[in-house]
Amino acid sequence: MTINLESELRQTFGLAAFRPGQHEAITRFLDEEDVVVILPTGGGKSLCYQLPASLLAEQNVGMTLVVSPLIALMKDQVDSLNARGIPAVFLNSSQDLEEWRDAHRTLLQGRARLVYVSPERMQSASFRKLARSLPLARAVVDEAHCVSQWGHDFRPAYQKLGYLRRTLKLPVMALTATATESVITDLIASLKLRSPRIIRGFFRRPNLAFSMELASTFDEKLNRSVRALQDETEGRSIVYCATRKTVEKVTDALRTRGVPALAYHGGQEDVMRQRVHEEALERGGSVVVATNAFGMGIDLPDVRQVIHFQVPGSLDAYYQEAGRAGRDGKPAQCLGLFGPGDLAVHKGLVRQGRKQERAQLANRLAKVDEVGTFFRTFSCRQIQFGKHYGSEAAEDHTPCGICDICAKPKRVRAEQDTERQNRAEKAAQRKEKRDTPVTDSEKDILFQFVDSLRKPESVVRVAKGARGSMAKDIKRKGLHRLEGHGALSHLPVEAIEHCLEGWLKSGKLVRRGIKYPTIWPANKRVRAPKGEGSPRKKRKGESALGAALREFRKRAARKRRWKAFMVFSNQVIAELEIRKPQTLEELADVPGLGPRRIERFGQDILDILSQSYETPTAEATATPVEEELHP
Ligand code: ADP
Ligand code: MG
Repeated sequence: MTINLESELRQTFGLAAFRPGQHEAITRFLDEEDVVVILPTGGGKSLCYQLPASLLAEQNVGMTLVVSPLIALMKDQVDSLNARGIPAVFLNSSQDLEEWRDAHRTLLQGRARLVYVSPERMQSASFRKLARSLPLARAVVDEAHCVSQWGHDFRPAYQKLGYLRRTLKLPVMALTATATESVITDLIASLKLRSPRIIRGFFRRPNLAFSMELASTFDEKLNRSVRALQDETEGRSIVYCATRKTVEKVTDALRTRGVPALAYHGGQEDVMRQRVHEEALERGGSVVVATNAFGMGIDLPDVRQVIHFQVPGSLDAYYQEAGRAGRDGKPAQCLGLFGPGDLAVHKGLVRQGRKQERAQLANRLAKVDEVGTFFRTFSCRQIQFGKHYGSEAAEDHTPCGICDICAKPKRVRAEQDTERQNRAEKAAQRKEKRDTPVTDSEKDILFQFVDSLRKPESVVRVAKGARGSMAKDIKRKGLHRLEGHGALSHLPVEAIEHCLEGWLKSGKLVRRGIKYPTIWPANKRVRAPKGEGSPRKKRKGESALGAALREFRKRAARKRRWKAFMVFSNQVIAELEIRKPQTLEELADVPGLGPRRIERFGQDILDILSQSYETPTAEATATPVEEELHP
C-alpha cells in the first residue's frame, strides 16, 4: 500500500506533524503487525489507530473494531470522528433501541470505518455473531492496562480479549499510558499478541509544572487548594480525591469558601455525572472535584490545573490523573498535597479489597509506598517519572526546570544540606561519647551495679542510674537507693550504654522481656516480679482491635510518663472500634480525641486500625478503582 501518511494527517485530521511514536505505530499496524503503543496521557494514542482505520476502510480493506472501557469516552470519540467525516459507530448499554438500530444499520451496510464496543459487550454471543459477519480488518484495545491484573484499572472482562487475535485472527493494536514491565508483559500474554512491536514515546510533559507539598490536615489542604483555585480563574481545574466521601466533603467545603465546585464520582446517578461532565465542558473556570472516575479518556484539552487533595494509590495513577492537565500543550499546574494519613488510607483500601492473592496484595502495597516515595523525594519530578517508566529517551532524563524541585533548587538544596549536616554532626558527637574509654575498675563498678538490681531494668535506666540520675522513674524503681547509684557520674551516658551493650553481645548479660527489653546478669536467677514482664492479656470480651489500642496506649503513656487515660479514654477506644476511621480527618470526628492528640498519636492509631481490616466488610469488597471504572 503506497500512501502518504503526512497528507492524510493534514487533510483528514488537520494536524501538521506526527508526534513521537505515532508514525511508526501507524506503519507497523498497516503492515499487519501486532503493536503495543505506550504513550503518555495526551500523547496522541487515538490517532495511532484512527488514521490507519480511516485509510483501510477507504481502500476497502475493512473496518476497525475498537474495544474501549468507558461509555463517555466512546461517544466523544465517535462524535469527533463523524465531525471529521470519518463514519464511526459505537455499541453499548447506554443506547436506546433506535440508536442501537441505527448503529446496526450503518454497520451492516458497511458504512462505518470504526466500531467501538465495551469489553463487556464484546463477550456477548450476539456481538460475536455480528462480528463474524462484519468485514473486520484490524482490532484495537484502548486503555489496555485494564487487561493486566497489575494495571491500576484492572477489569475482568478485558481478560477475554485474546479472542480478537486468536478467533477473529485480526492484527491487534494495544494502547496504554502505563509502561511498567509487568503490565506490558501481562497484556501481551492476555491479548495473545504475536511478537508485537513495542513503541514507546517519551513521558516528559514539558508544559506541566509539578509541585508536591506537605499538608497534614484537612484544613491545611483546603486552604492550599482554595488559594490555588483562586489563582486560576480562567481555565478549568480538577481536584482529585481518593474516596467518594472525601469528594463530597471537599466539594461542600470549597463551596462554603466561595469556590463553585462540582462533585463527580462513580456513586452518582449516570444523569448527574453526565450533567457535571457537560457543565465542565461548557464553563470556563470550572472546578470539578472527582474520584479517578472523572477524566479517563475524556479529552478536555484545556485543564489548567490538577490538584491532588489526597495521594492516589500508585504512581501510574498519579501520572495519568495529573497528566489530564495541559493536553493542549499550554502551561498547566499539577499540585500534589501529601498528608501523613494518605498512604494509610490506600493501604486500608488495598487490604479491604476483594479476595486477592498474596503476591497481588504485596504488589499493591508496594505501589502505595512507591507513590509515597515520589512525593517525598527531592529530585526533578519528571526525571522520576522517566525512571519509573524505564524510558530510554534523553528527554526523560534532563531536569524539567519547572517543577518544585527544579524551580527552587537553591532553597531546597540548602535545606537538605543543613539537615544532612546537622545529622552528621549529631552522629559524630554520639560516636565520640560512645567511644569514651571505660577503665577496668569502672567496668567492675558498673557490673556490681547491675548485679545489685532487684529486678531487670532497661539499658537506658541502668546507665542513668549509674550516672546518678534522680529522675522520677529512677526513684520509682528504687535505683537511687542502690550502692552504685551515681558511682559513674563522670562518664557520658552513651559510654555506659555502649559497655552494657557489649556485655549483652558477649553474653555476660542477657535480655529479659520482649516488648520492653531489659537486662540481667547471665548467671543470676530472677525473681519474677508481680505484674511485670508478662504481656498484656486480652480482657474478657475484648476485641483484638481493642486490645491492640490498649496496648498502644499503655506504651505511649509509659514513654511520656503519663497516666493511660491521658493518651485516650476507654470511651475513645469504644468509638474507634465502632467508627473505624481511615483518615486523620475522620479521626478528628471521634469525640474525645482532639487535634493535639491526633497530631501526636493519629498516625499510629490509623496504622493499628488498618491492620485490623483483614476481614472485608460487605460495603468494601472491591477496590474503589475497579468499582468506579464500570460504566
Ligand atoms: P491519549 O494518548 O491520551 O489517548 P489523545 O489521543 O486523546 O491522547 O490525544 C490528545 C490530544 O492530542 C488530542 O487533542 C489530539 O487531537 C492531539 N494530537 C494527537 N496527535 C497529534 C499531533 N500529531 N499533533 C498535534 N496534536 C495531536
Ligand atoms: Mg486515549
